[in-house]
Amino acid sequence: MEESPGGPSQKKVVAVVGGGLVGALNACFFAKRGFDVELFETREDIRQAKIVRGRSINLALSHRGRQALKHVGMEEKIVSQGIPMHARMIHSLSGKQSPIPYGKKGQYILSVDRANLNKELLTAAETYPNTKLNFDHKLQDWSAETGLMTFVRSDGSKEEIEADLIVGCDGAFSAIRKQFLRLSRFNYSQTYIPHGYMELTICGVRRSPDYIAWCKCALMGGTPAHARGVPSAGQEMNAMRAHVNSKWFLFRKHVDNLLHFLMPKTIIPLYTMVTFTRTRYHEAVERWHWQDRVINRGLLFSATGALLGGSYLLIKNPPDINKLLVPAEKMWSRLVDLRTS
Ligand SMILES: Cc1cc2nc3c(=O)[nH]c(=O)nc-3n(C[C@H](O)[C@H](O)[C@H](O)COP(=O)(O)OP(=O)(O)OC[C@H]3O[C@@H](n4cnc5c(N)ncnc54)[C@H](O)[C@@H]3O)c2cc1C
Repeated sequence: MEESPGGPSQKKVVAVVGGGLVGALNACFFAKRGFDVELFETREDIRQAKIVRGRSINLALSHRGRQALKHVGMEEKIVSQGIPMHARMIHSLSGKQSPIPYGKKGQYILSVDRANLNKELLTAAETYPNTKLNFDHKLQDWSAETGLMTFVRSDGSKEEIEADLIVGCDGAFSAIRKQFLRLSRFNYSQTYIPHGYMELTICGVRRSPDYIAWCKCALMGGTPAHARGVPSAGQEMNAMRAHVNSKWFLFRKHVDNLLHFLMPKTIIPLYTMVTFTRTRYHEAVERWHWQDRVINRGLLFSATGALLGGSYLLIKNPPDINKLLVPAEKMWSRLVDLRTS
């Protein structure tokens, strides 16, 4: 325990509502800081439940996630159970497969079992003597003024509990946020992307473990971005769904990677910033807009320079026009392909 907020006799009580990944991890952080932590989770204890409701899609764990786990002493344990993913495989309609690495050589994200991570985090939270986990406690109502919360249990009984600080970690349809919406001047917006996803389980495929994990990721479709832990990532599914098969996108990706290799501190691909660094998200986005402008202008200048240079050479040494017509037509249709595909 690092600190005792309020002194040993009057420790502040922190109520963490939601025992998912974020709630369980937050409980560890607050407990480590010496607060009295009460975690409330609507489901029963997933470590004992026979059937666990909720998503089972593996999580891609990035540098940020690893750092958070490191702070509560769990990085090694989780990482040792993960499967490294070095690249995503893009399947074109023609059946062509092209792997695109996530980062530089040697950089990877880790595919980890979501349910297992949740269980491990709950167990870690429970090891702090100043933490209590309350399952089968669904937050129904709470007051921002008094800190009084009303929980309902599956047998219909109600319980009222008070806390000094309430931390809402109750997921995308948060009951905590619902109450905030009643307060004036509380701005809120929600946008659904027009895509869904379907989770497919491939059973009994005799392949190496990476391949199975790979399949799971490759089959995932767009996700509700706000609910994601690695927004970057919009993990390809959102951010890249429309582009991955675009030749222009692939060309830009190669240019970005080359520039990153030549100037690692100046040009950093957005995905790299989000996944392999702890650059703040808004800074990553601002920086990326700047880089994008610079790179696009650079490409435009280079293309214009090449065009002018080529024209100059052509005027100085005019070639036989008949020999040039066919290649010129081919090149033009390729350029049109590049922009429209
Ligand atoms: C398809 C998909 C793929 C994803 N892939 C990744 C990925 O690869 N990497 C990544 O980092 N992130 C990924 N995410 C995002 C990640 O799942 C979320 O960021 C993460 O689960 C958020 O955790 P959470 O604890 O805030 O919410 P949740 O995991 O939703 O947990 C909320 C908890 O609160 C409980 N709860 C809800 N209401 C109440 C209530 N009224 N009272 C008490 N308890 C309540 C719920 O039972 C639940 O246990 C993905 C999301 C989706 C949908």
